[in-house]
Amino acid sequence: MEACLVNVFGEAEVAVVHPSDLEAVAGERTKIIGIGGHDFLGINPPTSEFVEMVNTGPPYNRVKFFELMKKPVMREKIVVAGGKAAWQLADETIMDKLNIDYVHLGEGELSVPAMFKSILAGEKLPRIIKGGVPSIDEIPNIRGATIHGLVEIARGCGRGCAFCTPNMQKLRFQSIAHIVKDVKTNVDVGQRSICLHSEDVLRYGAKGIAPDDERVLKLFRQVAAVEGIESIGMSHVALSTVSHNPGLVTAVSETCYSMLDEDWTGAQTGLETGSVRLIGQHMRGKVLPAPPEEWPEIVKQAFGILDDNNCICAATLINGLPGETTDDVLKSIELVADLKGTRSLLVPMNFVSMRGSALDDEETFTMKKMTPEHWQLFGECIDHDLKVVPELIRIYKTGSSGAIKSLLLRAGAKYITNALQKYVGQMKRGESPTDRTEVSKWLNPDIPDLKNFGMMR
Ligand code: SF4
Repeated sequence: MEACLVNVFGEAEVAVVHPSDLEAVAGERTKIIGIGGHDFLGINPPTSEFVEMVNTGPPYNRVKFFELMKKPVMREKIVVAGGKAAWQLADETIMDKLNIDYVHLGEGELSVPAMFKSILAGEKLPRIIKGGVPSIDEIPNIRGATIHGLVEIARGCGRGCAFCTPNMQKLRFQSIAHIVKDVKTNVDVGQRSICLHSEDVLRYGAKGIAPDDERVLKLFRQVAAVEGIESIGMSHVALSTVSHNPGLVTAVSETCYSMLDEDWTGAQTGLETGSVRLIGQHMRGKVLPAPPEEWPEIVKQAFGILDDNNCICAATLINGLPGETTDDVLKSIELVADLKGTRSLLVPMNFVSMRGSALDDEETFTMKKMTPEHWQLFGECIDHDLKVVPELIRIYKTGSSGAIKSLLLRAGAKYITNALQKYVGQMKRGESPTDRTEVSKWLNPDIPDLKNFGMMR
């Protein structure tokens, strides 16, 4: 957005400002304040579920968002909200309550600059505006470094899962030259770890479901060759791509481990369910080129391949998909049991009906609706994770700020592990955990100790 607005209005007219600095920066000449967010109200997974679980009051992102919206400057200027979580605000009653003038839904490269021009010209616009789809050439290079060195290499997915919003976007790939330029922008200001972002990094540049190995490897080689870069991570990979292309996973990891100062990597992925019935109903494309029946085998193979290549995956599962039965949940429990021993994290989440997905008419699944089988699945996943945490802490590099950070991390992880361990047995027996004060205490953002450590604002 910054780059798009600068291209139209000029560098002197656009500023990217942290909420804490907003009042000091926004002056008489400031006309519009745009805000982007991933989960303004804290109702997306996994926030919604963790908040219910630890029972500590409203989610922190909602608290901070409301704090921002209460600032006098937000009432004085024209406010436009957009980004991934814009759907949460696209309701005139909510907009009025929060003093939001306009909500922009979808991709903004083409429509946001045009919208701002119209606002400045005093034209009357609808309060909720849907963006168009920019071609790959219309997505500009970033102008500054990104959080965690995230560099977008593609948009969209193409596998067609019904609950998913990236699925609604057209699949497009950035050129390697464009990606390398964004990587350099990060490295130039000291970001040494780059995370390549797409819904399936291994399918970069593919014409169909099968990856284009040469193009993927060329991308990794050229990014790894950027001077100053120390590690490359992947935001997401698809388990079916991994399972059908073990050689590509090995080639990618060998490229990174031989060219850079890294010996392990990680990626997020969607495991979603162990039920081939639900896979067939909501996400057949996730398994392609294989049929839904092969999903459990694909998952097991892929977890093994990733582990063999020192790639730790964090996989999400979804409780309460529309049409789910007890038998479907039991299938997930069986699959989780088969993954024991792999270095991976399993994160069960509850289904959220997100506006813009193909399932946005369905009901959101909440913790209150969880059955003993859902709790059992939850317990099995946490049990799996707690066994992997010590290994993750062992391999995690804390960089030059090293010893103290590492000590705090180990102590924190041990504390959380011990606190959670108490409830794992309960959950594995299918019981909802009671007396969660210990967990709440640790996770509650109001704990003064955390503030003193400077770990929270
Ligand atoms: S594979 Fe992942 S990103 Fe692609 S449509 Fe399915 S859930 Fe969405």
